[in-house]
Amino acid sequence: MYGVFGQTACEGRLWSRSVAAVPRSSAIALRLAAFASVALMFACGPKPSASTPPAATDAPPSSEAAPQTPTTTAAPPVLLRGARVMTAAGVIYERGDVLLRDGKVEAVGAQLQAPQGVAVIDAAGKTITPGIIDTHSHIGVYASPALSAHSDGNEMSAATTPQVRAADGYWPQDPQIDLARAAGVTTMQILPGSANLIGGQSVVVRTTVGARTVDDARFVGAPTGLKMACGENPKRVHGEKGGPMTRMGNMAGFRTAFQKATEYKRKRAAWERKKGEEDAGGPPDRDLGLEALVGVLDGTILVHNHCYRADDMLGMLALADEFGFEIRSFHHAVEAYKIADRLAEAGVSASMWADWWGFKAEAYDSIRANAAIVSSQGARAIIHSDSAQGIQRLNQEAAKAKAAGERAGLPISEDEALRWITANAAWALGIEDVTGTLEAGKMADVVVWSGDPLSVYSHAERVYLGGALVYDRNDPKQQPHTDFLVGQPAQGDLR
Ligand SMILES: [Zn+2]
Repeated sequence: MYGVFGQTACEGRLWSRSVAAVPRSSAIALRLAAFASVALMFACGPKPSASTPPAATDAPPSSEAAPQTPTTTAAPPVLLRGARVMTAAGVIYERGDVLLRDGKVEAVGAQLQAPQGVAVIDAAGKTITPGIIDTHSHIGVYASPALSAHSDGNEMSAATTPQVRAADGYWPQDPQIDLARAAGVTTMQILPGSANLIGGQSVVVRTTVGARTVDDARFVGAPTGLKMACGENPKRVHGEKGGPMTRMGNMAGFRTAFQKATEYKRKRAAWERKKGEEDAGGPPDRDLGLEALVGVLDGTILVHNHCYRADDMLGMLALADEFGFEIRSFHHAVEAYKIADRLAEAGVSASMWADWWGFKAEAYDSIRANAAIVSSQGARAIIHSDSAQGIQRLNQEAAKAKAAGERAGLPISEDEALRWITANAAWALGIEDVTGTLEAGKMADVVVWSGDPLSVYSHAERVYLGGALVYDRNDPKQQPHTDFLVGQPAQGDLR
């Protein structure tokens, strides 16, 4: 065991935790992890330096800007043969095969025929799962190495900034992306931080190799998310500079924002109705922030709400009802276990840690069985990272939460625990129809593990992204790294 200092990028507090020493933690990985820690230390302290470039007046609304069809790749087809296959769709094959072709999972089952020309890989003794999906990451907007110039995740210049987009701060060469990929992560939601009531728009990215722009990595067709934060962070950051200073102020801030959005939507609709007519006049001035909130009201932008306490979460559900929108996932949600029935009833997922809490007042009252209770009450449980280190062990985090459930008398199946970091996460991001499980027709986002992914001793050995091999633990040539590692002793050996 070794101690690692870290913090969630949103919290602005330093805390420590211990993690199991796993073999992938080579010198270089540790060095990068250390950089990441220090980078995060800067995350919430200094003033933000990023600014949002002006959008062209006629640009499409941000919620519609992404192309609408999934990408496929020209990767050669491959049949992974004879592994334990965990589909995250309710079925586990003790000895199964997975056929990847044209960027998709073509078939999953026992003793599949190998089509002509398809390479067959013996995966006996291995375990195959869908690619890991993290609903909460700041990789790329709090990039490594630790420079304040890389602090691009919290636009703390106002308490409500729905117009800013994580996509505009995402640095596709962040070395942390390579480490996430090497841990089996294929998709991550990159969120603005939680300093603001409304922090801005998220972007869902793939752990694409060699991306030069965010669009190279963007998960095509994934809905935009909107980061909102209740509780202590907005009070702490904005209390001394214009507010909100209290939870009352927080809720008033949300209400004011959504009231303005409701009126903006009404004005736009009235103009749309009249625009052919002679006296229609010009359209209302475009407001990029209100446009994003209208996307929330219309259901095209998904709300991801940082919220710790049960009463805060219920308050946000009431606010969402008041204005007629839905919350897709509560993030952190350390008291989700107190309201699991309400989350199930409202159809809201909870993105949680396995065992992080206690680092501030609103984070005090959690329990290790949090995820298991949410799950057993019929709500969608998700294990997220909010950490460039934690994202490298999401399989172990899910395993810990599963074990805690069992200790509390709540048996969680292996399939369910796997869904916490795959299928349920895909649902929270609105991409469950195309990824998150191993089923025919899904994207070929696949991890071959050295053994049981819920064991601390297992590693991701091979990672396929859209059917293309993007990481191979046993082949240094298949261990992508950024230019920032050129000349480093462990170049090409990102373990
Ligand atoms: Zn965060």
